[in-house]
Amino acid sequence: MLQKTSYFMKQANLIAGEWVEADSGQTIDVVNPATGLKIGTVPNSGKAETVRAIEAAAEAFESWKKTSASERAKLMRKLHDLIMENQDALAELLTLEQGKSLTEAKGEVGMSAAYILWYAEEARRIYGDVVPSPWRDRRIMVTKEPVGVIAAITPWNFPSSMLARKIGPALASGCTAVVKPATQTPYSGLAWGVLCEEAGIPKGVVNILTGSASEIGGEMTRNPLVRKITFTGSTEVGKILIKQAASTVKKVSMELGGNAPFIVFDDADLDRAVEGAIAAKFRNSGQTCVCTNRFFVQSKIYGKFVEKFAAAAEKLKVGNGLEEGTQQGPLIDEKAVQKVEEFIADAEKKGGKVMTGGKRHALGGTYFQPTVIADAKPRMRFTREEIFGPVAPVYKFKNEQEAIDLANNTEYGLACYFYTQDLGRAFRVMEGLKYGLIGVNEGVITTVEAPFGGLKESGLGKEGGHQGIEDYLDTKYVCIGGLGI
Ligand code: NAP
Repeated sequence: MLQKTSYFMKQANLIAGEWVEADSGQTIDVVNPATGLKIGTVPNSGKAETVRAIEAAAEAFESWKKTSASERAKLMRKLHDLIMENQDALAELLTLEQGKSLTEAKGEVGMSAAYILWYAEEARRIYGDVVPSPWRDRRIMVTKEPVGVIAAITPWNFPSSMLARKIGPALASGCTAVVKPATQTPYSGLAWGVLCEEAGIPKGVVNILTGSASEIGGEMTRNPLVRKITFTGSTEVGKILIKQAASTVKKVSMELGGNAPFIVFDDADLDRAVEGAIAAKFRNSGQTCVCTNRFFVQSKIYGKFVEKFAAAAEKLKVGNGLEEGTQQGPLIDEKAVQKVEEFIADAEKKGGKVMTGGKRHALGGTYFQPTVIADAKPRMRFTREEIFGPVAPVYKFKNEQEAIDLANNTEYGLACYFYTQDLGRAFRVMEGLKYGLIGVNEGVITTVEAPFGGLKESGLGKEGGHQGIEDYLDTKYVCIGGLGI
C-alpha cells in the first residue's frame, strides 16, 4: 500500500475504530512553522470523548489480551512494513507540521518503524519464571500479564517516534491504548490510527484523540480503567501527571526534560568532538530532550574547539525542511524564538561572547541562526534551564573532577556526552556522571535496542531495549500447593 501524504492526514479522533469529531464540533488550527500558514484543523476534545476512548480500549482489551504473542507480532510486522513503504509520505507530513528537515523526518519515521519491529520481536520473549520452591509439595510460578488500558501523552518535537515507543510495547504486551499527541503536531500521531487500521489491528485497540491537554490528561490519570500512564514531555507537566495518577495508583513512566552536558577533554580527538557537538546540539534545531545544553571544554583546547565549532555551526544550512539540503528548520513557534533571544541577551549581559549567530535568521518567521556563545558562566540562565533551541554555550574547565561536578550540578539526568582518548578516564567519568544515557566519543546514541530514559527529574522508567516492555506488564506470583509430592 503506497499512499500520498494527504491519505495519512486525518482531522478527526479515532475512538472505537470510528473517525469522529469533538462532541462540541469545535476544532483547533494546526500551523506549518516553516510558513506560518494553517494546514488544517483537529478536534478540540475534552473529558467526555476521553471517557469514551478509555471505555473502548477497556472493551477491546478483553479480546486483545487473549491473542497469542505470535499473532500480535505478525500484525506488528505488517505495521512496520506499512510505515517503511510510506516513509516518504509520513516524513513529509511530519516536516509540514513540525518543521524539521525532510532527512531528519525520514530518520524519525524509520526509527518509529524500528521500534515497532523491535517490539514485535520482544512480544515473543515475555518470559515468566519457575522459581525453586522452599516447600516439597508446592511449586512457584511467576507470570507476566498485560496491565490493561494504557494512556499516552506525547510532545511536538518527535511526534511520530515518541508514540512508537509507547504503541510498540503496548501492542506487544497485549495492552490497549488511548493516545493524545501534542496539539501543535497532531497529524503524525493521528497517522498511527490510519496505519493501525491498515495493518488490521482490531478496532478499539489504539484510540487517538486531540484537544484540551488538561481535560484529556485529567481523565486519563484519574479514570480507574487506565492502569498505566506514559508521558514524554516537560518535567513540569510530568510532575502534574504523577500527582494526578496517585489518586488511582497507576503505573507511571515519565520521559522528561534534560540539561545535557557535553565534555571535551584536552586529549580528545578534536575534529570528532566538533562533529559530535554539531549533531548533539543542532539536530531538530536544538529542540530535543537529549540536545546538548552545556558544553564544557578543557582549558588547553578551549580556544581551538570554540573556533572550529563556531565555523561548523555557521555552515549549517537553515531553511524550509521540505527544501533539498536544509539542515536546520524553523523553531516550533514565536514563543520558542523569544525564549532563545532571552537566553542570549542574558548571557551577553553577563559576559558571554556570541561567536556566530545570535539573531533571528534573514528568512524571518521562526527561523533562527545557529548560535555559539563562548565564555559561558554558571550564573547564566541556560546553565539551569533547558534551552530547546539552536544556542550552544561553551564553558571552560580545568580538571576532570571539576568537569564531572559541573556536569552533575543540575536536577536533570537524561543524556550526557564526553570526548576523551584515555580509557581510564573514560571509565572514571562514565561512573561519575549521574545520567541515564551516556555517549563516549559519540554525539547521537539513541537506538531501539538500548534502554532510553533519564535519572533524577528527567524521568522514571525506560523505553526501548528489553527493559522497555516491563512497565506494560503486571507480575503475578502463583503458589501451587497440595501436590502430595
Ligand atoms: P509539554 O509542554 O510538557 O507537552 C507535552 C505533552 O503534554 C503535550 O501533548 C501537551 O499537550 C501535554 N500537556 C501539557 N499540559 C498538560 C496537562 N496539564 N495535562 C496533560 N497533558 C498536558 O512539553 P513539550 O513542550 O511538548 O515538549 C518539550 C519537552 O519534552 C522538553 O522538556 C523535552 O526535554 C521533553 N522531551 C523529553 C523526551 C524524553 O524522552 N525524555 C523526549 C522528547 C521531549 P498540548 O500539546 O495540547 O499542550
